[in-house]
Amino acid sequence: MYPSGRLHLGHYRGVLQNWLKLQHEYECLFFVADWHALTRSYETPRELAKSTREMLIDWLAVGIQPGSATLFMQSRVPQLAELHLLLSMLTPLSWLKRSPGFKDHQLQLKEQDLLTYGMLGYPLLQSADILLYRAGLVSVGGGQDAHVEIARDVAKRFNHLYGREPDFEAMAELAIARMGRKLATLYRKLRQAYMEQGDNEALQTARALLEDQYNLSIADRERLLGYLEGAGRVLLPEPQVLREDTITVPGLDGERMSASAGNVIELRESPESISEKLMRMPTDPARCRRNDPGDPARCPVWQWHQVYSEGSVCEWAQEGCRSAAIGCVDCKRPLIDSVIEELSPVRERAREYEGDPDLLRAILSEGSERARDEAQQTMIEIHNALGMDF
Ligand code: SF4
Repeated sequence: MYPSGRLHLGHYRGVLQNWLKLQHEYECLFFVADWHALTRSYETPRELAKSTREMLIDWLAVGIQPGSATLFMQSRVPQLAELHLLLSMLTPLSWLKRSPGFKDHQLQLKEQDLLTYGMLGYPLLQSADILLYRAGLVSVGGGQDAHVEIARDVAKRFNHLYGREPDFEAMAELAIARMGRKLATLYRKLRQAYMEQGDNEALQTARALLEDQYNLSIADRERLLGYLEGAGRVLLPEPQVLREDTITVPGLDGERMSASAGNVIELRESPESISEKLMRMPTDPARCRRNDPGDPARCPVWQWHQVYSEGSVCEWAQEGCRSAAIGCVDCKRPLIDSVIEELSPVRERAREYEGDPDLLRAILSEGSERARDEAQQTMIEIHNALGMDF
């Protein structure tokens, strides 16, 4: 996530609630993308420290746990810069130019009228972010699959170029033997089923089997993964998309919620401020007087009800609005209560972290160390495969 300072309800409902679930289901890595942030704000790098601190407080306050997930700083893993550079040598320029990441940035930065090398390489840095940790799954919101697609293409090209060792088949056979007779037989059977009959289920079973082989080295596992499909070593596994249902909370004006548009409710906002902002929200413009019937479909407050209110409250708002039985102030009250109730514990927990910068530093430092260890493992394999470990 970009270090964008204090987070708001759009981040909470759209991303963080998803992370809260994922951290207990998978081995997760969540990082502060400070190098990515430089693509836009390379003139003001000093501001990143404060934005990072504020964002981390919000992550922790909503319940992201350093004991369950690895929380780290992108820039504290220098191996990322090296992998990015190595990948840049083999990535065709056309892949980067057609990437949606590059196009999005061009649009966003139109006013800056600046095309930097960093911006062009942005999708590749994003690929390196994924591939360095050999991430199996990348959680993305709707319509963002293409961001992961380039990482898959790059991994495929990398594996094709460097995964074929001269004695690959002999080494794969040795690795099979290391699994023990029973499992080796099962692996061969599954491989044969996939190679001869295209049995995808057998392929998935064989992959799962390899995941559980703790007595195999990483290199041997990569060999056997590639050998399954008649290819070479899988040095960089191709990541898959983990598509999550995300909830979009519209901004206070009904448009997309964003800090730059000034239409947000921050996660640590006071109850008074929440109440004041929601009370000021625009409503159906056709409902000029209290007795005029309204149409919820034309009202941003109704969109908030759809996110925050139970069925009975939604019905009450719908009927009351259409019949003018309720006024807009009445309609907003249950919404205000729900938002305050949701954010009160977040604000409470945040206090603990706001007063303890050393704790924040320690969390990021420990997480970054874990991330570096993971990254180093990948780089050792890569140096070895490229013959650059001399
Ligand atoms: S009653 Fe509710 S839904 Fe209807 S216009 Fe007012 S705020 Fe919007």
